Amino acid sequence: MSELEETFAKEMELLRKLPPPPPLGKHIPWEDMQHTRCHCGHLVPKNTLRTYWTGYIYALDNACECCKKDLDQMTKIVCAGCKGRVVARITPHTDKDGFEFKAGDTLHVKSCRFCDTVIKESTIGEKLYYLTHNKDRLKKQVDMGKYRL
Ligand SMILES: [Zn+2]
Ligand SMILES: [Zn+2]
Ligand SMILES: [Zn+2]
Repeated sequence: MSELEETFAKEMELLRKLPPPPPLGKHIPWEDMQHTRCHCGHLVPKNTLRTYWTGYIYALDNACECCKKDLDQMTKIVCAGCKGRVVARITPHTDKDGFEFKAGDTLHVKSCRFCDTVIKESTIGEKLYYLTHNKDRLKKQVDMGKYRL
């Protein structure tokens, strides 16, 4: 295993060991004691937040009822540092390096600007993994899976 692959494997191992997110914890930017906010601006009551298993961790989805259908067709980015909060949604597409953001998939970052105010970019673990396994494409790749979230 290369150094990058080892790092990724370790990170994913850590993600797997994370306990389920405290659903009402401090990692969610609550609007008030009872609500968080959907991307559209609508308030979402705590008790309607959806929790789902991503394959690595439990994620908390703050999509409101009216956005749910559309947002479920996007690619969700879940932050482990935020204990599974959905921190971004990306329109499905394929990057120049061939990495696919598939509709409905969940990808993972270790931290984001909400839980780590020092970092400027987050690395999508799956993309890093993809890049290390597709080295022939690396020369075309520009971002190493880093995103501003
Ligand atoms: Zn909404
Ligand atoms: Zn709404
Ligand atoms: Zn975070």
